[in-house]
Amino acid sequence: MLLETDDETVIDSLNRNAREVAVEQFGNTVWLRALIEWSNVCRNDCLYCGIRRSNPHIARYSLSHEQILSCCDQAWKLGLRTFVLQGGENPSAAAALAQTVAEIRASWPEAAITLSLGELPYDTYALLRRSGANRYLLRHETANPVHYARLHPASMRLETRLACLRQLQELGFRTGMGIMVGSPYQTIGDLIADIRLIEAFRPGMIGIGPFIPQPDTPFGDRPAGSAALTLRLYAILRLMLPSVWIPATTALGTLLPGGRKAGILAGANVMMPNFTPPAQRNAYALYAGKTDSAREAADNLTLVLQELESIGYHV
Ligand code: SAH
Repeated sequence: MLLETDDETVIDSLNRNAREVAVEQFGNTVWLRALIEWSNVCRNDCLYCGIRRSNPHIARYSLSHEQILSCCDQAWKLGLRTFVLQGGENPSAAAALAQTVAEIRASWPEAAITLSLGELPYDTYALLRRSGANRYLLRHETANPVHYARLHPASMRLETRLACLRQLQELGFRTGMGIMVGSPYQTIGDLIADIRLIEAFRPGMIGIGPFIPQPDTPFGDRPAGSAALTLRLYAILRLMLPSVWIPATTALGTLLPGGRKAGILAGANVMMPNFTPPAQRNAYALYAGKTDSAREAADNLTLVLQELESIGYHV
């Protein structure tokens, strides 16, 4: 089976085919999105995540309205046209963020605004949509409800997450779902269920990265997921859904040197350089050893551009 094979010729031809499909769709071009980790305040307690509510070891922050606009300004001036605001799940703060979203929309009418703020009430999603946000990332994390229950506290349900994804689609957001590869207790059967769910849901984007343990979480001593299997999923999903956007994720770049480059060569077509101010970036500690964590945004961007140039891609 493709997911499990270690036959190099099979893997090479899988990657080559996926890359060809991506190039047919997008050319030798990678789309850049400016990632702004706007707050690590979170009401949830996901067992894998470093910004979970019950982690007392990180300093909590939220960027101010002005700081967020200044990150966007910096990104725009460097040529990026999509801003991704990601943060912990915090419904009242998310509703208040609508004002910032509206101002970003007014200042940069042609920019795409992507949000990744977790599960929110329908009215808040609708408010954010009206304020000008047009994309939303909400990884489903696993298609298997039993597996979901082992990764999350009892108050969280896969059903709720999937209902949120349907609401977001209904509201006209370009919607992204996805998983961590190698999260604790994950089986190959779970990954097949994930592929089937993604195929049925037809998201506009798919976010997939390896699980990376964070020492201050209950899964702090679990092994990291496999970079090779992450790449395998990019290639398979590219072949199944030719026009979907697949970012080569930061987690992949963290686990494997040159991982994001390998991601592009396996069919991914998006990269998300980090534009969070360096002072806050370390506190957005979803997992350990996050790549690019100390550099200025512009330096990160230069690195991404160099990686891409070395494989003959441009942005
Ligand atoms: N709170 C928002 C977004 C922030 S978390 C939400 O719930 O969607 C963004 C993603 O980071 C999660 O969906 C998860 O898949 C990933 N993540 C969290 N902890 C991680 C870890 N230890 N290793 C790798 N990825 C992780």
